[in-house]
Amino acid sequence: MSAPHVVVVGGGLAGLQAGLACADAGARVSLFEARPRLGGATWSTKLKGLNVDNGQHVFLRCCTAYRGFLERLGVTDRIELQRRLSVPVASPDGRRAWLRRNALPAPAHLAASVLRFAHLSLSERLHAGLTARHMGALDLRDPAVDAQSLGGWLAARGESDAAIERFWDLLVRATLNLPARDASLSLAAKVFQTGLLERADAGDVGWARVPLDEVHAAPAAAALAARGARVCTRTPIQGVDVANPERPAVLVDGERVEADALILAVTHDVAADLLPDAAGVDCEGLRKLGASPIVNLHVVFDRRVLDLPFLAAVDSPLQWIFDRSEASGLERGQYLAVSLSGAEPWVGRSRADLQRVFLPAFHAVLPASRQAGVERFFITCERAATFRQAPGTAALRPGPRTQSPRLFLAGAWTDTGWPATMEGACLSGLAASRHALAAASSGAASAALAA
Ligand SMILES: Cc1cc2nc3c(=O)[nH]c(=O)nc-3n(C[C@H](O)[C@H](O)[C@H](O)COP(=O)(O)OP(=O)(O)OC[C@H]3O[C@@H](n4cnc5c(N)ncnc54)[C@H](O)[C@@H]3O)c2cc1C
Repeated sequence: MSAPHVVVVGGGLAGLQAGLACADAGARVSLFEARPRLGGATWSTKLKGLNVDNGQHVFLRCCTAYRGFLERLGVTDRIELQRRLSVPVASPDGRRAWLRRNALPAPAHLAASVLRFAHLSLSERLHAGLTARHMGALDLRDPAVDAQSLGGWLAARGESDAAIERFWDLLVRATLNLPARDASLSLAAKVFQTGLLERADAGDVGWARVPLDEVHAAPAAAALAARGARVCTRTPIQGVDVANPERPAVLVDGERVEADALILAVTHDVAADLLPDAAGVDCEGLRKLGASPIVNLHVVFDRRVLDLPFLAAVDSPLQWIFDRSEASGLERGQYLAVSLSGAEPWVGRSRADLQRVFLPAFHAVLPASRQAGVERFFITCERAATFRQAPGTAALRPGPRTQSPRLFLAGAWTDTGWPATMEGACLSGLAASRHALAAASSGAASAALAA
């Protein structure tokens, strides 16, 4: 019996994870990616000798699917993962607070640091602790929870504007790519429940010590090649044909490539354009998922101005600042990447304009930067970094299966229970691969019986 043929469309993390899982299980895999490179929304490039990521990516210890993907690729030595959650939070008035866990079990592990969180008043800290307890009890699958915004829910619970901005927004904006006032309550509660409240070590923060391509694209290409998979970049798929549901096919450069199972792991807007009616997916719903941008500022100072791997800022346009000096190969000075999530206000602004806003912000939060020279300042902008994780989106996210029995969906936008993250992408790839393998091997078995 020959190995079943699985076609994967899209070489982001979802497609790479799906393709690799199928190849590892013995399937013959063909993966088509439109761009010249793999990695999807996670990519790096070299700019005047500097290795630059399209945007800072972090994960948490609870991202078990993503960490499993890294292990499969053999790249865990290229990753930094905190032994214990520890997040420094600075403000322009010179105060520095830490959100860090202690040795107590969850959820008590964070209580002491929230009680000492200097950016809130004592009563705001006590209130935040109580609100977190209520958040821990929310039913994530309840449509009434998803219908609300986190900001609205927090305000109704008596959280002050300052607490929303300096505490809740700090954690939610970076994970949901929207400010609390616009973000889905159920996705925010997912982050708090899984990332902070259920297990003490869940929220330890991880990041790549090397450019993203060396963590995802290159090792995944090597792993797929080692399994004999065919990987075609610069190969956009123009159509999906399920007229014969037992032999789904993609249309590429005027040719049909047939498969025993087909996994569509493209972005949701492209999926909406490619999916045939027979798939029974609500493509208008997919389009309604919309998009939310992330802007990164890349600033090279002529000396070190930050004495930590990363820092969060409140009362400042700076959100999260990461030291990328080592990963970029910088030999002198310090390279900081500022990750701006929910970045609509910053999209389309000129470099000079952003420099005018953000350099004073650096000077306010990092006093050592006042004496430093700026050697480089440039911007990367991903206008559709994630779907817009607003209230009401849960119902718009389809699962991996479609009404066509051998056509499956993957992508961080599918119904993984997670926000649009690397973890969501890997979970979706795993789910789609399980269904695809089952469908493809049942086909192979029936073909063998028929022969
Ligand atoms: C700047 C930025 C910062 C981020 N920060 C974080 C973070 O800190 N932590 C985190 O967990 N997540 C973060 N994310 C989100 C995370 O990167 C994504 O959720 C995840 O990588 C999405 O993977 P995916 O495979 O679902 O989709 P994608 O990576 O978008 O992959 C889809 C692929 O399909 C391809 N494609 C499209 N059309 C076709 C076609 N017709 N034929 C063939 N191929 C096609 C695309 O070129 C693309 O490669 C960030 C994203 C960005 C952009």
